[in-house]
Amino acid sequence: MTDRNTSLMARIDADLDWLVAFQRDLHAHPEVGYEEHRTAAKVAESLTQLGLSVSTGLLGTDVTTVLEGAGDGPTLALRVDMDAFPIEEAEGLPWRSLNPGVSHACGHDAHTTIGVGVARALANDREHLRGRVKFIFQPAEERPRVDDEGEKPYLEGVRATSAAELLVRAGILDSPPVDEVYGLHLWPWLDAGQVGIEEGPAMAGAANFTVSVFGQGSHGAAPHTGVDSIVAVAHILTLMQTIVSRQTSPGEPLVITVGTIRGGDRRNVVADRVDITGTVRSNSAELIRETVPRQLHAVLDGVCRALGARYELDYYPLILPVMNDVTLARAAREAVGAVLGEHSVVASLDRAMTSEDFACYSSRVPGLYLKVGCTQPGEAVIPLHNRAFRFDEEALRVGTKAMALTLAARLTAGQ
Ligand SMILES: [Zn+2]
Ligand SMILES: [Zn+2]
Repeated sequence: MTDRNTSLMARIDADLDWLVAFQRDLHAHPEVGYEEHRTAAKVAESLTQLGLSVSTGLLGTDVTTVLEGAGDGPTLALRVDMDAFPIEEAEGLPWRSLNPGVSHACGHDAHTTIGVGVARALANDREHLRGRVKFIFQPAEERPRVDDEGEKPYLEGVRATSAAELLVRAGILDSPPVDEVYGLHLWPWLDAGQVGIEEGPAMAGAANFTVSVFGQGSHGAAPHTGVDSIVAVAHILTLMQTIVSRQTSPGEPLVITVGTIRGGDRRNVVADRVDITGTVRSNSAELIRETVPRQLHAVLDGVCRALGARYELDYYPLILPVMNDVTLARAAREAVGAVLGEHSVVASLDRAMTSEDFACYSSRVPGLYLKVGCTQPGEAVIPLHNRAFRFDEEALRVGTKAMALTLAARLTAGQ
């Protein structure tokens, strides 16, 4: 370990009590998306104390700062999310949420804390840094605005407008232009002390759809005089699953879930309309944006033609997959492994089918999304978004160290 890394790690170790207190305070005062006023003020205060100048207010509760190194080099962005989740926290923690119905069930209090921790560590290390780090404390990761009109989609056909997307449109990746973007999430499926650094897919892309199938009503005793939309939908639901099992590669995970189905009025009337809604998840942008909608149309068209029904499909991608840049992933594994030990780095994890608006940044500039293990070794996994979610505070230490090492290595390359 170089002297420089030794002092960086020592600084974070010495900071741990402060970081834990900061995180517990955020945890006790969770705020949902676009309402993170207290959280943003705490973050801004902590950055100002480091002598950094802070920008706020693009979306109301975002906080941004640029930490300049001593020499010239690339501009890296570190994005962390700050918002809480609308769920009542389980009993138990002394620093349990004081806000009824809201809690940090997704661990964003830890992400915010790690972001501040990295800023504190790197502010102390400026003389070694060639380039700069732009810290983006983002609101409302859990709260995309799904609008049917108004907002311009960020990609053809993409309708949801996430906070990340709004920040990108407001120029968060410009002036100075960001060369690489970094993010992280607590990951209960890894032990505290471990960091997942994958190449390629890190989070899934998502799309939603609504299908309306139109038949023709008739007496239930004379179905041949009408067109039964319920029978059509029965075939559609079954065939839809063959998009996963027979139309796409088993090597590429894909989920198609129908979550609602509504139709029919009376037991003895052939239903003239059924509506279904569902969601699609995949790590492949091509599957999300091209293959699945094309095959959905094929299924709907085939069934409806055979049965004399008619359909309307409204299919809209919400978010792209997060794809980790291979070069950045390898550099991070080397930087983290060399200091925290090879055992602390996990290169391959089960594919996550959850989504993240970090994709709005990483689909524009090369990105890397770390997964920070947070379950105490030997303890049962409590998943994210569970009201009993809690984490081993060792994750704050290791997450801060891993991210500080990753960024520092990129800002000293070639020295
Ligand atoms: Zn979440
Ligand atoms: Zn989250």
